[in-house]
Amino acid sequence: MSGMTTDIELVNKDGIRIDGRTAEEMRPLRIEAGVLNNADGSAYLEWGKNKVLCAVYGPRECHPRHMQNPTKAIVQCKYNMLSFSVSDRKRPGPDRRSIEISKIISEALEYVIFTENYPRASIDVYIEVLQANAGTRCAGLTAASVALADAGIPMKDLVPAVAIGKADGHIVLDLNKEEDNFGNADLPIAMIPRTGEVLLMQMDGHMTMEEFNTALEYGKKACEKVYEIQKDALKRKYSIQSEDTEEPE
Ligand code: UDP
Repeated sequence: MSGMTTDIELVNKDGIRIDGRTAEEMRPLRIEAGVLNNADGSAYLEWGKNKVLCAVYGPRECHPRHMQNPTKAIVQCKYNMLSFSVSDRKRPGPDRRSIEISKIISEALEYVIFTENYPRASIDVYIEVLQANAGTRCAGLTAASVALADAGIPMKDLVPAVAIGKADGHIVLDLNKEEDNFGNADLPIAMIPRTGEVLLMQMDGHMTMEEFNTALEYGKKACEKVYEIQKDALKRKYSIQSEDTEEPE
């Protein structure tokens, strides 16, 4: 969110956005669970032009040992954007942004995982962004909770996330890259639909109170949709697996 002024028209006079969506329309979202053989759990997600792969390991003994918590497991997320994931080559390795995103995703996941079941353990979540087009922290978190469920790690619930923003003065759901770059505000949220608990909320830019409430309303409905897609990914994975293991008649 640069807040840059530009001649680009992000929302036209009919309320249609540059990728043809209406204000409250989400980009297409597809999630597949259990895509990696050598991780304990995994998920692959495509959300508009975003492509994200997530792998989970654990619970496993936490190293170095001084990081162990004798009462519960720690959750360590590493969010990483690959060099070729963005149009200007991204310098490999962690930077301020990826360290921040890793931290907020770890905290959101720590809230839902029954960490007290696994003292001294670490649950490691690797998020690799293969292609980015805005909203990758939400895409990463959405994929991560599916991968954790795929790893069989007990959780209170899945964590769906989505970004809402403001472009050309309109509140719009699920910002694309142009809206993120040239829009007026970006509000990524993660919410458990069942309880309404908010596990992540960040705000870049400005919204009035009324706009904020509209954004939250859009976000809440979108999280419900994302949640259904997450559950569907897990159901698909495990119904296929149980069919495979059924005894032939
Ligand atoms: N981006 C980029 N290079 C970077 C970081 C970000 O091109 O080093 C792009 C990428 O498409 C990303 C978008 O800017 O999705 C918005 O980044 P932001 O920090 O708002 O996080 P996100 O919306 O991905 O959660």
